[in-house]
Amino acid sequence: MAMETELTIIGAGLAGCEAALMAARLGVMVELWEMKPRHLTPAHNSPLLGELVCSNSLRSADPTSAVGLLKLEMSLMGSAVTRAAEATRVPAGKALAVDRERFAAVLDQAVRDEPCITIVNRRVERLPEHGPVILATGPLTDGPLAAELARLAGTDHLHFYDAIAPIVTAESVDMDHAFWADRYSDAPGDYLNCPLSQQEYAAFYAALTTAEQVPLRDFEKPKFFEGCLPIEVMAGRGEKTLLFGPMKPVGLTDPRTGQRPFAALQLRKEDAAGRLLNMVGFQTKLTHRAQLEVFRLIPALAHAEFVRLGSIHRNSFIDAPRVLRPDLRLKTAENILVAGQLSGVEGYVESSASGMLCGWLAAMGLLGQSPALPPPTTAMGALVHHLQDTASKHFQPMNVNFGLFSALEKRYPKKQRGRQYAKRALNDFLSWLESVGLTPAHRPPEL
Ligand SMILES: Cc1cc2nc3c(=O)[nH]c(=O)nc-3n(C[C@H](O)[C@H](O)[C@H](O)COP(=O)(O)OP(=O)(O)OC[C@H]3O[C@@H](n4cnc5c(N)ncnc54)[C@H](O)[C@@H]3O)c2cc1C
Repeated sequence: MAMETELTIIGAGLAGCEAALMAARLGVMVELWEMKPRHLTPAHNSPLLGELVCSNSLRSADPTSAVGLLKLEMSLMGSAVTRAAEATRVPAGKALAVDRERFAAVLDQAVRDEPCITIVNRRVERLPEHGPVILATGPLTDGPLAAELARLAGTDHLHFYDAIAPIVTAESVDMDHAFWADRYSDAPGDYLNCPLSQQEYAAFYAALTTAEQVPLRDFEKPKFFEGCLPIEVMAGRGEKTLLFGPMKPVGLTDPRTGQRPFAALQLRKEDAAGRLLNMVGFQTKLTHRAQLEVFRLIPALAHAEFVRLGSIHRNSFIDAPRVLRPDLRLKTAENILVAGQLSGVEGYVESSASGMLCGWLAAMGLLGQSPALPPPTTAMGALVHHLQDTASKHFQPMNVNFGLFSALEKRYPKKQRGRQYAKRALNDFLSWLESVGLTPAHRPPEL
């Protein structure tokens, strides 16, 4: 297929590189605008495209884990990121970790070797009004370009800071220590309350206030808004502060005792089906290990499965369910697709996957086609589905996890669940590839 139409991609990070290579592979002439090497965000250091800004891990390599499965789908679709990762892999047990420098060098070279891609080194301040554009400037999009996006998305729908509370799976909450209720209501209620006795609270408080915290990076220091203080900062103000804040028990009656609990954590449904539950007000800067230790002291969470842990960091992202059309274009500017972390996915792998899909969608758009996206039984489809989940009132970026997939038709023991999700996903993903005329880049593995 030969094309004259051009696609402009802004930002040559993980999403931008994947998008450019995907579109170029389909014959599209791409201009890739990148502000490196003259301008660097506070997290980028290297002149190379496709830089990993922090950890060198692309997380689990196991295809029966959600992120392993996402990488498998990406590699079947011809991902340059998974190819670069495999080529620069370093030993890291079950994780796919890479030599960071070599990884970026391989990805950078792949983009430069592609004759359909022209790299333009410039810092973009305004979005092109015409012609297809993929915006992939990442979580540190700032300055005039962010202001421009805020104008198009609406200032209420562009977030600059991410205060993330942990999320647990509903089925892992110990219901002997939890009850559904809204405050001051006898009806069953929308919140799952996790009560603590005075002794349990004292132990939790002691652990919370002495737990290890992640040090803030320089560009993250200034802003904790009163409305979303880290739980440990709130606790540091006094032993009773949480009892008037996120752990207040007022308006709740524990059906086991008929009494008001001493303290209570509330869990709120994160998805329409209520399979994932958010720990309300528990945004935190504790280390991941400390979070698991401290939060499991809450009796209902003693054996909880955490699909996301809390964090607070600089992160620009749009309120995708409100701002994007189903085909990932801005409702207010149909020529612009938003890709990567800026679109509301979370993580290296997820950002890359989103870039691939946007590159493919943009190429299809140039051919006058608007094919179906992968179904939500697949990892890629589940990611997109999250961006389209209009039922979620408090949209937050999220790593891929099985809670985002369509539920399995029947219940399986925990140990078998990942494989069941993966088998169904692989089958459906291959069917989807075929339906849109893409040939798998390699033989799929046996799962
Ligand atoms: C500090 C920090 C640490 C993170 N650590 C991890 C981690 O360890 N693991 C993980 O999975 N995820 C991590 N993330 C989240 C996320 O996965 C990464 O940010 C990922 O790089 C996002 O990919 P992206 O392609 O969307 O954006 P990026 O990789 O950031 O790419 C954006 C590109 O756009 C360019 N750009 C920006 N503005 C302009 C402009 N105006 N004009 C032209 N070019 C521009 C940038 O130079 C950059 O090359 C982290 C995020 C941050 C902020």
